[in-house]
Amino acid sequence: MPKINDYVERLYREAVKAMKNAIVPYSGFRVGAALLTTEHKVYTGCNIENPSLMLSECAERVAILKAVSDGVKDVRAIMIVSGMEGYCHPCGSCRQIIYEFARDAEIFIAGKKGIRKYSIEELLPHAFKA
Ligand SMILES: [Zn+2]
Repeated sequence: MPKINDYVERLYREAVKAMKNAIVPYSGFRVGAALLTTEHKVYTGCNIENPSLMLSECAERVAILKAVSDGVKDVRAIMIVSGMEGYCHPCGSCRQIIYEFARDAEIFIAGKKGIRKYSIEELLPHAFKA
């Protein structure tokens, strides 16, 4: 894992830890996420499947909504890790959630070959705006 800096490593460790809590009886596909607020607090999430698959939640969305429900206004960075070989980029719904609640965040996605960094503008150009 290439070293980027301390907070990225911290987020990676927290996301990996959160991934262990994933509830994935249907897909077996584990995802973990961790976000860092501008006040240096970390919130984590894992994917949570439901027998009614449309009700399943993505790890990054869980982490973001936990932070938002705790009153967080500024997210500095988000890390997403998964058990897959490649990179687990956020789904379209999560990109919109990131756009809405973590627009300025650095988005890190960890894979077996290292960590990629994105902005939400790169992942979701022409986002929906109300
Ligand atoms: Zn998603």
